[in-house]
Amino acid sequence: MTQALKQTGIFKGRTRVPYAYGCFGYTRGDGKTWHGGIDLVGMDDDTICMPYYENGDGTQRAIRGTVTRARKVDKASGDRTWEWGWYICVQLDADQTPDAVNFLYFCHNEKLLVKAGQKVISGTPLAVMGNSGNAALNDPPYKHCHLEVRATATGVGLDPTRYSGTKNAVGTYGTAALPAPEPADPPMAAQLQTLCILDAGEDIVAKAQALGLPVRPVQGFEIGPASSGDAMTLWGMAQAAGKPYYASYTEE
Ligand SMILES: [Zn+2]
Repeated sequence: MTQALKQTGIFKGRTRVPYAYGCFGYTRGDGKTWHGGIDLVGMDDDTICMPYYENGDGTQRAIRGTVTRARKVDKASGDRTWEWGWYICVQLDADQTPDAVNFLYFCHNEKLLVKAGQKVISGTPLAVMGNSGNAALNDPPYKHCHLEVRATATGVGLDPTRYSGTKNAVGTYGTAALPAPEPADPPMAAQLQTLCILDAGEDIVAKAQALGLPVRPVQGFEIGPASSGDAMTLWGMAQAAGKPYYASYTEE
């Protein structure tokens, strides 16, 4: 099977930071313009996904929210968000993260993959990286995502590094490819078991939560312990969706 890419920040695989958050001295405004977000380039994949939240101890948590903006503002309208080109704004649900961040902005996209009003969770594809808006003014233009996080919709950009999967410094982060685990046999009857499903996706996670099962984002999602019946249900969904799956069994 093909190797799996782990999502780091907003991209699967490696992310390059060409320009960090909070800097002055870029090309804009003769070097006097403050950069309220971080610029991220997906090196192995150009699909921007809803990020996980880095807890700060090397672990991540899945976060949920609602798309409040999925649009492009025309330069002629005088609205400064024209600079963002095609952009997505996600408002986090209550109590998702311990920091002050409530709004995530994903800017300069080539194509949007979600609509306003849509619910999203870590891993949901949001957009395709591009250079719309003022990113087209770079010489030469290059595709990237300006990721900006704010406490309020009109507030200033806060430190985005709990969401970007990177440090706030120029560099390359993440892993090109992981050796994929061997897909496991179907869940065995009469055993409680924990399922690990790579890139499980919103429907499988929602189903697991509806079944009342613990769900942990690890590499993909770790779900369980689950009864063999629940495990079969989720395994079947993973098979149908072509999601790589492996299981570890829990003694009971
Ligand atoms: Zn930027």
